[in-house]
Amino acid sequence: MTGDVPAQITLYPPSTDIEGSGWRLLAPTLWHAGLIWYHYEMVVFDLTPIELRIWCTFTDRHAFESWRQHELIIKRCEGILVSQIDVVETVTPWARHDGRCTCNESTEFVLVGHGFGNNKSVLYCCDCLGYIPNYHTSELVGNTYGKMQSWALASGHVYDIWMLTDDLEDWALNELRSPKSEINSSGRLIAQLIGNHIKKPVWYLLFAHSGTRTNVCPSCGLRCGPAKWNAKKLACHACQIVY
Ligand SMILES: [Zn+2]
Ligand SMILES: [Zn+2]
Repeated sequence: MTGDVPAQITLYPPSTDIEGSGWRLLAPTLWHAGLIWYHYEMVVFDLTPIELRIWCTFTDRHAFESWRQHELIIKRCEGILVSQIDVVETVTPWARHDGRCTCNESTEFVLVGHGFGNNKSVLYCCDCLGYIPNYHTSELVGNTYGKMQSWALASGHVYDIWMLTDDLEDWALNELRSPKSEINSSGRLIAQLIGNHIKKPVWYLLFAHSGTRTNVCPSCGLRCGPAKWNAKKLACHACQIVY
C-alpha cells in the first residue's frame, strides 16, 4: 500500500482561455495548501463541453478525501467548488510512491531536498522512514514552511543543473556535496530552525558521492558511525547531518 493518491481532476470551464481566469487556480492552491505534491500537470481540452484536466498526486488519503473542506481552497476556489468536478484515482506507474509516516508521535525527523529521485515530501520520519504530508509539515514547522519549500525546490533545480548541463556541472556538484555551499548552508539552517521550533532532532541529509564517502564527517572531520535509524547512512552527531 502506498501513502499518496495519484488522481485526475476534471473541471468544466466556460472557455478554453483559462490563463486569466480563476479556473487555473485550483492546482497551485492545492499545492500551497500542502494537499498535493509539486509535480502536477494541467491541460485544457477543446471538447464539448470544454474540459480542464489536472493530473496530480494527493499527499495521502486524508488530503484526497478532505481537500474540498480546506480553508485555503474554499477561500481561493469558491467558484470552482460550486461547479461540476469529477475526481478519479489514477495509476502512475512511473512515479515512486513511498509510505506515509504511521507514527502517532515521531521522535526524530530528517530534512530531504528535492532531486535524487525525491520530488515529494521534504520532511521524513526517522522512526518509520515514512514521509510527512505537506499539510501536516506546515502545521509542524510553522513560519519556516515557505522558506523550507523554496529551499527544497531550489535544491531540485541544482540537481537538474548537475544532471542536464555541461557548463555548470562542476558548480552544481559542488553545491550539492559541499557542507558549506549556499544550498547546504541554508538547508542546514532550516533543519536547525525546525528542530528549535518542534524541540526534536531534525537531521539534514547531505548529498555524498557513494565512491567518495568515508567515515570522516565532510563538515567537521570527526569520525562517524551508521545512523541508528538508517544503517545505510553515516551520521555526524556534532553537525546533525547524515550522508
Ligand atoms: Zn513515522
Ligand atoms: Zn560533523
